Amino acid sequence: MDRKDAEERVKELRQLLDKYGYYYYVLDQPLVPDSEYDEKMQELMKLEEEFPELQSNDSPTVRVGGPPLVAFEKVQHEIPMMSLGNAFNEQDLYDFDRRVRQVTGDDVQYTCELKIDGLAVSLSYENGSFIQGATRGDGTTGEDITSNLKTVGSIPLRLQKAADIEVRGEVFMPKRSFENLNKDKEQAGEMLFANPRNAAAGSLRQLDPKIAARRNLDIFLYAIADDKGMGLKTHHEAIAYMKELGFKTNPESQLCQSIEEVVEYVNSWVDRRNDLMYEIDGIVIKVDNLKQQQELGYTAKSPRWAIAYKFPAEEKITTLTGITLSVGRTGVVTPTAELKAVKVAGTTVQRASLHNEDLIREKDIKIGDQVVVKKAGDIIPEVVRVLDDLREGHEKDFEMPSECPACGSELVRLEKEVALRCINPQCPAQMQEGLIHFVSRDAMNIDGLGEKVIQQLFTHQLVAGIADLYKLEKEELLKLERMGEKSVQNLLNAIEASKQNSLEKLIFGLGIRFVGSKAARTLAEHFKTMEQLRNASYDDLLAIHEVGEKMADSIVSYFDKPEAAALLDELDALGVNMKYKGPKKAEAASDSIFNGKTIVLTGTLEKLTRKEAKEKIEAFGGKVTGSVSKSTDLLIAGADAGSKLTKAKEYGVEIWEEDRFLEEAEL
Ligand code: NAD
Repeated sequence: MDRKDAEERVKELRQLLDKYGYYYYVLDQPLVPDSEYDEKMQELMKLEEEFPELQSNDSPTVRVGGPPLVAFEKVQHEIPMMSLGNAFNEQDLYDFDRRVRQVTGDDVQYTCELKIDGLAVSLSYENGSFIQGATRGDGTTGEDITSNLKTVGSIPLRLQKAADIEVRGEVFMPKRSFENLNKDKEQAGEMLFANPRNAAAGSLRQLDPKIAARRNLDIFLYAIADDKGMGLKTHHEAIAYMKELGFKTNPESQLCQSIEEVVEYVNSWVDRRNDLMYEIDGIVIKVDNLKQQQELGYTAKSPRWAIAYKFPAEEKITTLTGITLSVGRTGVVTPTAELKAVKVAGTTVQRASLHNEDLIREKDIKIGDQVVVKKAGDIIPEVVRVLDDLREGHEKDFEMPSECPACGSELVRLEKEVALRCINPQCPAQMQEGLIHFVSRDAMNIDGLGEKVIQQLFTHQLVAGIADLYKLEKEELLKLERMGEKSVQNLLNAIEASKQNSLEKLIFGLGIRFVGSKAARTLAEHFKTMEQLRNASYDDLLAIHEVGEKMADSIVSYFDKPEAAALLDELDALGVNMKYKGPKKAEAASDSIFNGKTIVLTGTLEKLTRKEAKEKIEAFGGKVTGSVSKSTDLLIAGADAGSKLTKAKEYGVEIWEEDRFLEEAEL
C-alpha cells in the first residue's frame, strides 16, 4: 500500500472506530461485534506503525474509552484508568514475555486473572468509608456513579480497617440476571441489551439508582490505584490485602512462574469459561512484582507490564439463502437471515436476526452471500460480516418493502427509531403475536395453546383477536389438525380457568409497551381493579414508585385507544376477572430472586426479627441455613456481623445489608 492509500484508509478506519466506540462506550449499544472492532483496530495500529508520520494524538489507537455522559458529575482520576494491550494468540503472549524480560531480566513471575466482561470502576474510601465511585470514562475523566454503586451488594460501604484507599475493579452482570433482564425487556417490547457487559454498563449509567438496584450487579476488585506506602511488593499481595479489607476478589487467579505456565492457564479456560456464572472475554496477564511493573511503565494507553489475551469467538462460514420478514407484537418488522445449516459453538444455526434495514446496509448483505456467523455472548446467532471477495455475481440486493408483509398497510419509521413498524391495530400478524403473548405463562397462562395451534386458529379464521379466544366452541376446535376430543376439552378448560386469573396477569397479557410482568403486578396491587387503572391519569401513574415517564405515557395512550376500550369491555362481558386477588405464594416465589437460593442471616437485624426474615425468604422459595459454606448464595448481614461475614467474604459469597434485603423483599 502506498502512502496516499494508507492515509485514506487510516482516515476511514479512524472514522469507523470512533463511531463504533461512541455506540459502545457512550450509548452502551454496540453496532458491531467486538471481533470486528478489534480487527479494524489492529489494521489501524499496523498502518500507523508502518507510516509513523500518520500517527496522531487523537487516534483511537492512543485513546482510552469514550467521553463521560454530561448527565453525571465528572470525576478526575488522579491516577489514570488505562486500557490493556491485546494478545490474540500464543505468539503474542511469547512476544509480550520477551518484551518484559528485555527490561526486567529473566526473573519474572506473572499473575493471571480472568478478564471479567463488565465495566471498569474506581472506588474511593476515606477512613474505611466508601465515599465515591466512578466510571473509567476517557481514562482521566469519569462519571460519578456513587449512588448506583451503593446498590451493588458486594461493594462494602465500610472496610474492615479505617483505610484511605482507591481500588479498581469490574462491575458485571451474572449471565442468569442478563438473560432474565432481556426476557423482561422483550416482554415489555423494549430494546434488548447486546451482551452482559453492555447491560452492566447501561444499568450503572442510569440516572435513577432504583433501576441499578434491581439489576443484580456484582463486582470483582483487581487493583489498588496507588499502592505506595502500603509495604506491598507484589500484585498478588495487593489482591490478598484487598480481600482482607473486605473487597470481593476473583478466586480463580493464579501465580505463574513462566510464560509457558501462563499459556497453559489461558488454554485451560477456553472451554471452562462456559461453566462460569459470569462472562469473561479473556485472561489478563500481569507482571507480579510491583517494582518491575514500575520499571516497565506505560504507553499512552496501557501499562507495558500487563496484557489481555482475548478468546477467539467461534466463527463459521455459511451461505445466506434468503431474508424473511416477521411482524412482532408491537408491529416492528424484523428481517431475519435464512442460513444454510451450520454448527456453531455446539448447536446448529439456521437463522439469525438482522435486526433492521440499517444493519443490512451497514454490513452490505446480499442474498446468496457467503457470510461469517457466530454466537454473540455465546447465545444468540449473529451474522458477523460478508465475505465479499467470494461473490460470484449472482448475489441479490435486499429491498425492505414499504408495506407490511402481513396486512399490506404502509410501514412507518417512528422518530428516533431504526425499526420499521406496521401501525395498523388490526394487522393479523400483530394480532397473532399478541395472542401468543396473551396466553403465555406469565400472562394468562393457558396451557395447550402453543404457537402452532394459534396459527391454525388464525388460518381457519376461528379467531381474529384476543376476545375471540373466549368464544371458541368445541366443534370448531375438533376440526383442527391433531386436536382430539381430549385435547380440545383440556384446552377449553384451560381457557375457562384463565377467566379467574388475578388482574396482573391480564394487564401483562394485554402487551402494553414497557409494561413487563413485574410492572403489571405493581399496577394491579396499586389500582386493584381494571376500571381504576383505565381511569388513571398520567400523574396518578407517575406517583407510583416503580412507574417512570415512558411507562406512564405508554399506559395512558394504550387505554385512550377505542379498540382497547372495546376489547376490555368485551372481556369483562365474557366473564374475565378484572380484579386483583392479592399475592399468591407460589407465584411470588417462582419470580423472586430468593427462589432456590441458600441464604444465611447474621448480625442484628433492626427492622424485623430473624424469624420474620426467615419466613419471608422461605415464602419466596429460598432456604435459610445456619452457617456459611461454599454453597451459600447470599449472606444478609445486620449490625455487628462477625465471623460469618468474614467467611462469606472469603468464599466470595454475595453480601447484602438489611436495607437491600428489605427493598428486594418489598417489605
Ligand atoms: P479492554 O476491554 O481490552 O481491556 C481493559 C479493561 O479490561 C479494563 O478497563 C477493565 O475494565 C477490564 N478488566 C477486566 N478484568 C480485568 C482484570 N482482571 N484486570 C484488569 N483489567 C480488567 O479495553 P477497553 O479499552 O475497555 O476496550 C477495548 C475492547 O472493547 C475492544 O477490544 C473491543 O473488544 C471492545 N470494544 C468494542 C466495540 C464494539 O463496537 N463492539 C467498541 C469499542 C470497544
